Amino acid sequence: MGNDEKIAAVQERTRVPRAAGARKRAAARVISELCTGCRICVQTCPSNSITIVESELNFTGIAQVDESCTGCNICAIDCPWTGVEMLNPDGSKKDEAEYERQLKRLRGYQ
Ligand code: SF4
Ligand code: SF4
Repeated sequence: MGNDEKIAAVQERTRVPRAAGARKRAAARVISELCTGCRICVQTCPSNSITIVESELNFTGIAQVDESCTGCNICAIDCPWTGVEMLNPDGSKKDEAEYERQLKRLRGYQ
């Protein structure tokens, strides 16, 4: 069995069936009224999930998060205007105290 076949076999064994569109993690949502379009989150998002779009709310535009968001919380922590909230898959707000705890775990601090 070649390497490609081995990898395909492992991927098939470990594949987790998931309903189409079902999301397991929280996702960032920009609170457009608070966003100043400063672009800090665009710079810090590790998965390039944020873009600035035109808005009537301010001339610099506002941030918008796309589907590639991994729910890492970085933008919610870094936004100086508290313009990002994290929403759980069921639409409820994620506990803010969990932002830092999860980020520390991801970075291996605890
Ligand atoms: S860091 Fe905050 S204020 Fe700045 S663009 Fe992102 S969401 Fe808007
Ligand atoms: S939660 Fe993480 S992945 Fe999602 S938009 Fe914010 S920084 Fe990017």
